Amino acid sequence: MKILLAGGAGYIGSHIALALLENGQDVVVMDNFDNSSPEAIMRVEEMTGQTVSLYEADVTNKKVTLAVFKKEKPDCVIHLAGLKAVGESIEQPIRYYRNNIDTTLTLLECMAKTGCKNIVFSSSATVYGEENAAPCHEKMPKGKCSNPYGWTKSMMEQILQDASVADKDMSVVLLRYFNPIGAHESGRIGENPRGIPNNLMPYVTQVAVGKRDKLTIFGDDYDTPDGTCLRDYIHIMDLAEGHLKAVDFCVENKGTEIINLGTGQPYSVLDIVKTFEKVNNIQVPYEIGPRRGGDLPAVYADVSKAEKVLGWKAKRTLADMCRDSWNWQKNNPEGYE
Ligand code: NAD
Ligand code: UDP
Repeated sequence: MKILLAGGAGYIGSHIALALLENGQDVVVMDNFDNSSPEAIMRVEEMTGQTVSLYEADVTNKKVTLAVFKKEKPDCVIHLAGLKAVGESIEQPIRYYRNNIDTTLTLLECMAKTGCKNIVFSSSATVYGEENAAPCHEKMPKGKCSNPYGWTKSMMEQILQDASVADKDMSVVLLRYFNPIGAHESGRIGENPRGIPNNLMPYVTQVAVGKRDKLTIFGDDYDTPDGTCLRDYIHIMDLAEGHLKAVDFCVENKGTEIINLGTGQPYSVLDIVKTFEKVNNIQVPYEIGPRRGGDLPAVYADVSKAEKVLGWKAKRTLADMCRDSWNWQKNNPEGYE
């Protein structure tokens, strides 16, 4: 099969590209490198000894995107292209709505024009909102999002679902990711945030490598066992392997399916810091700061549907995630630069 990864040069896309190639699939990547580097795909090619058809292109550009669909004729699209910084989305909502919604509409239009019926979408646990208490189950109604980034995900889910209602031959898989962390075991590809990291694990690794003085833990007065927030961290290679199963499911079925990708096991911010220190034998200085606006005390998945529908379950441990995150960071202190 040939799979088109829109936004495939990014953190998650590059790991999926690797997993697909190792599984014998053909991979096409479209990316404008807004938040990534072509170096990630070059490394994937080097690691697998295979080639990726790489297009530097903005997926909101319909002419260019249609030309790629006509030339490559993908069997399935994995739609990862989007802006993802929560804080930035509050400051620049129009840019977020324009880019994220537009990539989705353009991909759907190009699929309709070229007869591609299958799409797997990178959604997020954020669509559960604050109304739904963990563990989050796919049957729960979506909640109110606390920022424009989350709303773009919620709206894009609706758009994709509506498209599959109108075209009975379409298949849409909405994957709700929990917290992907870690890197490929080789340490050759990993997460490469621009500027100050917003997410916990890249911040931790940058403190460990000496790029930042200390981690600020956003609040230790939550109603959780140690007072810090609980999240469902999932190893990026487990997440990538989940996509292999999701693509197979997508091409074999019709309609829309919503599936959580997590481990179902909550860990606190302090669990992450302590495990990282222990596994890697390195100190992560931290201080306790105020809560971050919009953070929920506990977000984790009910993962029974992924196991039932996809036959997939995350295998890697928190220790694996901490070891591989550090392996990537210490071998690539400046990321891909
Ligand atoms: P990322 O920023 O590393 O990857 C996204 C890629 O999309 C980047 O390479 C970027 O350059 C590209 N892109 C953005 N707009 C584009 C456009 N108009 N045309 C072409 N390329 C474009 O982020 P990631 O962590 O790999 O996330 C991938 C997807 O998964 C995103 O949609 C994100 O919202 C979603 N997601 C990520 C997480 C997470 O924690 N990383 C959690 C839930 C959902
Ligand atoms: N967090 C933190 N310090 C940081 C970054 C994150 O204490 O510098 C906490 C944050 O409050 C949350 C958890 O780590 O409880 C995971 O945050 P992240 O932004 O990685 O993911 P999300 O909030 O989207 O689940």
